[in-house]
Amino acid sequence: MTSPVGTHSLPSYLDPNHLGPWGVYLQQVDRVTPYLGSLARWVETLKRPKRALIVDIPIELDNGTIAHFEGYRVQHNLSRGPGKGGVRFHQDVTLSEVMALSAWMSIKNAAVNVPYGGAKGGIRVDPKTLSRGELERLTRRYTSEIGIIIGPSKDIPAPDVNTNAQVMAWMMDTYSQNVGATSTGVVTGKPVDLGGSLGRVEATGRGVFTVGVEAARLTGMPIEGARVAVQGFGNVGGTAGKLFAEAGAKVVAVQDHTGSIQNAKGLDVPALLQHVQQTGGVGGFAGAEAMANDDFWGVACDILIPAALESQITKDNAGRIQAKMVIEGANGPTTPEADDILHDKGVLVLPDVIANAGGVTVSYFEWVQDFSSFFWTEDEINARLVRIMKEAFAGVWHVAQENKVSLRTATFIVACKRILHAREMRGLYP
Ligand code: GLU
Repeated sequence: MTSPVGTHSLPSYLDPNHLGPWGVYLQQVDRVTPYLGSLARWVETLKRPKRALIVDIPIELDNGTIAHFEGYRVQHNLSRGPGKGGVRFHQDVTLSEVMALSAWMSIKNAAVNVPYGGAKGGIRVDPKTLSRGELERLTRRYTSEIGIIIGPSKDIPAPDVNTNAQVMAWMMDTYSQNVGATSTGVVTGKPVDLGGSLGRVEATGRGVFTVGVEAARLTGMPIEGARVAVQGFGNVGGTAGKLFAEAGAKVVAVQDHTGSIQNAKGLDVPALLQHVQQTGGVGGFAGAEAMANDDFWGVACDILIPAALESQITKDNAGRIQAKMVIEGANGPTTPEADDILHDKGVLVLPDVIANAGGVTVSYFEWVQDFSSFFWTEDEINARLVRIMKEAFAGVWHVAQENKVSLRTATFIVACKRILHAREMRGLYP
């Protein structure tokens, strides 16, 4: 249940019944532990965040009243480098969710071997209810409050659900003013004119497409004519849908917070993207039929791309999924029970921790470019992104075959070994 802005009677982390997404993550760690050999000695490290900061964010609303919002920044693991991960603005954000998202960042960053630990932040707010000025004040006060633990070599935020390049520009400016020096490297996903990287906006969707094409090649599924269903048509789902359509696939169904639409002949993706930009969602798009939200899961398709929020594919709908492949553009869209149902049905799941790692990979490129003050061309960025995604995916595929495990467990094996090996080499202090 959600409450309106600023009226939560209790902070979410006092809710004793809410293990939420963090509980899902813990189950995933339990599944990988038998494959960690002697490094399993360190596994407890992965089961507790290194550091979690909860901040109160008071702002003055346009009507003169004061509203308080709950904000978080969680650094799950810093063994391999500074924390890295996005900031989410959403009314349902909880500490459990941010903890899970920060842990998935640790796994993801290690899976593609970028030199970062995992972190995540969030504010429990529906940004649609705020004016632009209120949003700016909220972002700046949040940045100031978490300023004690972020920094270009400490922890580097980035966009996530409902945050964008403008929000990153405010964060960069606030941090820079507080430390008294321009600090472009403190956040990634910035506007290109402010030290942002070409290709960053599309990077997550491009990574989703790249691993999807690789998996299709390995399983003998033609992309030409493949039917694709996408949940969430924002930065990730919209770009992935566009790239699949350009490669000859048919986007046959799309769902977002404004409704579900379908067209068995294939939607006109550029027209749909324009409609979303103008109206804020896919609902009411003229070139499609509306469908009931729950029917989306049973739609006839070959590839399903959940690219919205967590826990969307559950034991209640997994049995109805007709796709042969699920590519997780979102973080944590499939519950462990649903994972098992899909596995038993022979559906190949390309897990979030590899499939959506393209975003943070280009964030890494942005951070490197900011440090060296030397900027690369978009072609260079895309070529490097594709190379990293393909190599990481090939490694995970090999581990899955070798151990006869799912791609999720295989990705966790690769990543947890890297994290825990770093942990072991650094040793305990004191
Ligand atoms: N929010 C994105 C993710 O979940 C990107 C994080 C980043 O670029 O640091 O992977």
